[in-house]
Amino acid sequence: MNARRAIIIRLPKDKCDVNYITRLMALTNLAYRGFEVWVPDIPKNIQYQIYGFKNYMGSLVFGTTPKRWFAETWVPLKTLRVYGDGARKGATDALVVLDFRSSVIRLRQVCRNEPRYVVTIPMPKWVVDRIKEGGDVRFAMIGLKDDEPYLALTAERVVEPHVPSGCRLVVDVNAWNNGVAYGIINPSNKIAEYSPLRPNLRLIDTWYYRAEDLHKRLGKLRRLGLDSTPEAKRLRREIKALRRKVYAYLRDFAQKKVHELVMKAIRLRAEVLIDDVLEESRRELLEMKLPSGLRKIYLAETRRFVKLLATQLEWYGVPYKFKRLPSTICPVCQHELTQLPGRIMICENCGFKAPRDKIPIHWALKAMPRAQVGPS
Ligand SMILES: [Zn+2]
Repeated sequence: MNARRAIIIRLPKDKCDVNYITRLMALTNLAYRGFEVWVPDIPKNIQYQIYGFKNYMGSLVFGTTPKRWFAETWVPLKTLRVYGDGARKGATDALVVLDFRSSVIRLRQVCRNEPRYVVTIPMPKWVVDRIKEGGDVRFAMIGLKDDEPYLALTAERVVEPHVPSGCRLVVDVNAWNNGVAYGIINPSNKIAEYSPLRPNLRLIDTWYYRAEDLHKRLGKLRRLGLDSTPEAKRLRREIKALRRKVYAYLRDFAQKKVHELVMKAIRLRAEVLIDDVLEESRRELLEMKLPSGLRKIYLAETRRFVKLLATQLEWYGVPYKFKRLPSTICPVCQHELTQLPGRIMICENCGFKAPRDKIPIHWALKAMPRAQVGPS
């Protein structure tokens, strides 16, 4: 099986011609849509690469099929890898050169339309780590995101899924207010470990409400016609910084927790069951009557969490599957559960009682290999 992981790296804007990259992206978009347009003032070798990639449609853009009329199509490029021992792999006409001897990546003619124009960036540690794990970076892409130039690298690796030890790692992904719950079920079918992973909600709420406060003050200034005063500008800057802080914090939290879970799964040679109940979480959040901004924050990066988890499990050859594990149905008698204060669930039929986040783990206990669990 081929596993893939990707990274994006911001390129120095002062060394890139954004208009040129925009044109390359437009050509790529046409190529994806089946047109072949040869432009006289863009180097032929770049255009050859764009059309040469048509066969890979759907496989390149981080494993997703580009939308048909998506204007911002990143430009796929081949790479040449020059390893520490001098060995070379890849296309000799590649415009992206990963040079491990001098620890740099060289981009030829893709950042600006000038003969022999080269942009050099330091080799990211991410690339070195993937190579150490037996990966190879055969493809790169350049493109713009929010008008900033980026380089995307895709590492590929052939993996043999590991043979499960009989341990199961159950990951129940909810909105951040409840967090991600995980449980480890050992080979004798006992819950060996259980813990919810929750970001610091108080910190998130503090940042959110501070930004809301500033927003109100900004509104007042606006109504007084003081929109463009230094005070208003300062407020705007501060609001933006606070919002950015919340998202950066959640992104970082998601990344760290994914890494921890993946390392646990590798260590235990576990099979992973993922229950992604984000739709249910969304509904639950609506019932809680939270401000819509906060609701959005509680769901931010949760999809990415699931995607990162699946990608990294694949990369390390950890078998996993998605499974619906109910949290409101009794795992013993399948009677509807009643929720008590403190998110404790109780079955009025058989007396079963457990914290709500632990119910999915109990369901997973019942899901012995090949057995069918609950409604799917
Ligand atoms: Zn029951």
